[in-house]
Amino acid sequence: MANRAGSSSSRLETLHEEDDYDSYGAESGWVEAKTHCDHLPSLSSDLTHIPIPGTPCNRCQHPSENWLCLSCKVVLCSRFVNKHMLEHYQQTTHSIALSFSDLSAWCFACDSYLDAQLIQQLQPFHETAYILKFGEAPPFRSVESSRVEDKPAMDVPSSS
Ligand SMILES: [Zn+2]
Ligand SMILES: [Zn+2]
Ligand SMILES: [Zn+2]
Repeated sequence: MANRAGSSSSRLETLHEEDDYDSYGAESGWVEAKTHCDHLPSLSSDLTHIPIPGTPCNRCQHPSENWLCLSCKVVLCSRFVNKHMLEHYQQTTHSIALSFSDLSAWCFACDSYLDAQLIQQLQPFHETAYILKFGEAPPFRSVESSRVEDKPAMDVPSSS
């Protein structure tokens, strides 16, 4: 549990987040997801090319339930397998990853889940991953859905 090496000095210095003090006491296994995280600016801005959910771990080839680094989009296995995503965070400080197994987002620096459906910067990743995984848009998106249209609708890939 307590094996964080160095680099954790800025944790818990934000005093305005009174809404998460009780989530640390939850020993029941369910920890409330944060709706704010200081590490969001490190996210990749290219949301259109993310690996498919079945992509194996980049290091050990573990085939499923891997994590996607939302900074560099590498796919690595979980702490329950060979901890390659955790290692990646320790080596790169890319702190936010998206689970391909349940599409939850985790911030290693915050040591907490993030609510990918409420955090605006995470929504596109969650949505894209959801579509890749299930073949349809996630059910929660109903309000701002008109925004997708101004993409240059997929011009025909080199028709010959
Ligand atoms: Zn691995
Ligand atoms: Zn990364
Ligand atoms: Zn964070």
